[in-house]
Amino acid sequence: MGPEDKTGTEAMRCMVLDQPGARLREEQRALPACVGSSVLIRVHACGVCRTDLHLQDGDLPAASYPRVPGHQAVGEVVARGPDAVLPLGAWVGAAWLAGSCGHCGFCRSGRENLCDQATFHGCHVDGGYASHMLADSRYCIPLERTLAAAAATPLLCAGLIGWRTLRMAGDARSIGIYGFGSAAHLVTQLARHEGRRVLAFTTPGDTAAQDFARELGAAWAGGSDEAAPEPLDAALVFAPVGALVPKALRDIRKGGTVVCGGIHMSDIPSFPYASLWGERQVRSVANLTRQDGVDFMRAAAAARITARISCYPLPQANDALDDLRAGNVHGTAVLLCSDAATETQHRPGR
Ligand SMILES: [Zn+2]
Ligand SMILES: [Zn+2]
Repeated sequence: MGPEDKTGTEAMRCMVLDQPGARLREEQRALPACVGSSVLIRVHACGVCRTDLHLQDGDLPAASYPRVPGHQAVGEVVARGPDAVLPLGAWVGAAWLAGSCGHCGFCRSGRENLCDQATFHGCHVDGGYASHMLADSRYCIPLERTLAAAAATPLLCAGLIGWRTLRMAGDARSIGIYGFGSAAHLVTQLARHEGRRVLAFTTPGDTAAQDFARELGAAWAGGSDEAAPEPLDAALVFAPVGALVPKALRDIRKGGTVVCGGIHMSDIPSFPYASLWGERQVRSVANLTRQDGVDFMRAAAAARITARISCYPLPQANDALDDLRAGNVHGTAVLLCSDAATETQHRPGR
């Protein structure tokens, strides 16, 4: 153990998915060595995402198994490879993007999120359902020291996707948000901070989500089966329900955009061309760039965004996934991954 390493001789523990359809299994491993620009992160907390359910269900064609899930990890750099761009002790987030080729047309035009060679944490490489994880230091998101681990994890996926989705809506003043889960509750706070008007469309009859949306500053909240009470400038669709796309098109004004923020969506039913006429657009948002991470963290701090979380100890990751699948998680489920996690829930600046 030298100056580039403060891990000691401890082993790591992780939750492993051996194959699609399996339950996660706890495993002890030797700490991996850092090579090149990689760093070893002592994970304090890792968020649980709907995409992790897709990994468990075998819905991600690019995934390989066995795999440690997790792409919303927050922790401290405890060892570094010779070419790492982060110092020991750095407080960082490891999000979905684990790496990209760096030289294709997408990478060279600021769209590394679309790189065909991109790799993703908890999909191609092991993620944060673990006490430690390896990450390429060039793809880690530096975090403010004052950002508490568990509360910060939802920012790394739901928050970032919400951010990119909102940016695609341009300068729209009034925005409809369809599907009021993790991403929506963060993007609502951001949109309100930017002085926009938010209308929230939830699962019909979900009055708890509608109350929550109004609490966060939505001007109106109702069921996704209700017509918008006023014409909207843009619609953000987070629910994985394709039928919401033609519905959202009917709700927006001429020149407006429907932005789909989900990685999976059921088929979009056919709709009359008149719904698209008037220079309306439909587009999707895929993955995220490192610049998104930097920009969003700054915006989130300025808007004082707070995430609603439910915490589980790491070994109870299966319970967290089951609860998410059953719709029993309020806000984002978060795994507390190290002994330090409990203390860092209210991490003071240092
Ligand atoms: Zn995610
Ligand atoms: Zn590339």
